[in-house]
Amino acid sequence: MKIPLSEPDIGSREIEAVVKVLRSRRLSIGPQLETFEESFARYLGRKHAIAVSSGTAALHLCVKALGIGAGDDAITTSFTFVASANCLLYEGAAPIFADISSHTLNIDPLAVREIIENDYVRDSLVKRWVHRRSRRILKAILPVHVFGLPCDMKPILETAHEFDLNVVEDACEALGAEYGGQRAGTFGDAAVFGFYPNKQLTTAEGGMIVTNDERIAGICRSLRNQGRAGDGGWLLHSRLGYNYRLSELHCALGVAQLERIDQLLSERERVARLYSEALADVPGVELPGEVLGVKRSWFSYVIQVLGRSPAERRDALMAGLHARGIDCRPYFPAIHRQPYFRSLHLDTNRPLPRTELAADRTLALPFFASMTREMVHEICSAVRELLIRTSESSAREEELCAQPRRVKPGTSAV
Ligand SMILES: *Cc1c(COP(=O)(O)O)cnc(C)c1O
Repeated sequence: MKIPLSEPDIGSREIEAVVKVLRSRRLSIGPQLETFEESFARYLGRKHAIAVSSGTAALHLCVKALGIGAGDDAITTSFTFVASANCLLYEGAAPIFADISSHTLNIDPLAVREIIENDYVRDSLVKRWVHRRSRRILKAILPVHVFGLPCDMKPILETAHEFDLNVVEDACEALGAEYGGQRAGTFGDAAVFGFYPNKQLTTAEGGMIVTNDERIAGICRSLRNQGRAGDGGWLLHSRLGYNYRLSELHCALGVAQLERIDQLLSERERVARLYSEALADVPGVELPGEVLGVKRSWFSYVIQVLGRSPAERRDALMAGLHARGIDCRPYFPAIHRQPYFRSLHLDTNRPLPRTELAADRTLALPFFASMTREMVHEICSAVRELLIRTSESSAREEELCAQPRRVKPGTSAV
């Protein structure tokens, strides 16, 4: 591919920091881990930050720390990366998918409420809300800030409070995003971040749990390190744990990236602006949604192809871009349609029309901090040309012009 889908922004400071760790001979559980966790907690304004080997590991440990396991349900979205649902399956818990808002592509708080009110009843013995038929206990809501746009947290937190539910934010795509002036990742009982190379901040592989809850933090620290107790010594294991540690090399990379996170984020914002300007008058596509009072942290640039049979048009556009050496991906495919997920035959399937529509018509364009104006323009003129070509056959049903609509938070934009 001439233009890749993503590319990490690694500067000379990062390279020096990693080499310095190699020279120090201290490769795991050392000062870089401490610094990375401390500076990450400070950046978010949370008491505890626990670095782990991936965002998926971070999700898994949160699920364990909150005691979500066999016989439990948690409400999340199917329009996300598979890890958001897999972390529940690891522990025998079931993901219950609520539909999304077509505008924000995030979980719809009204859909969450509707599921609880229709399917669950208060059990006074368990002191929890349990499923009417399966008697499974509803334990948590797991909102995902998809593509860096924070979910509508106010109604989600109200619902969680009303129905005795924990909240774990999957903020893996939302480092630096804000909702009502407050950072994404500071709303739930715990939140997780991921540092894969396509993320706003990368450690190559890596993840972070943040929380203000001392108990959750303690359990996560123990679980990532083979279930060792705080200061009980290297060979004293107080619970079944994992090796989810993050090495000093990864942490040093993270420290150096976090030192210039503002720059990394503003570069991404610059690229997003270039895209939005260049695509503003292209008919037949919807640009990434905006919400008043909500600041997106740009993770990716995802357009929605409008019109009749959007999946065909989207796939034709994708093939055309690939043929010109421009990488792009249908992002996300819905989790409930994945082969492995269907084969589980979970009794959690309700119609998810807006999730399926989004899965059919979304396309992630190349997006990374070091993209040039020329790259963006090349991509956008290719998109324009290809869309005009494919829409010639499907007539002129789209007088819809690609202007980002503005929606107030709290209103469920469908
Ligand atoms: C990246 C990501 C994760 C975690 O991914 P890892 O590759 O395990 O670090 C989890 N959820 C979402 C939504 C993500 O985008």
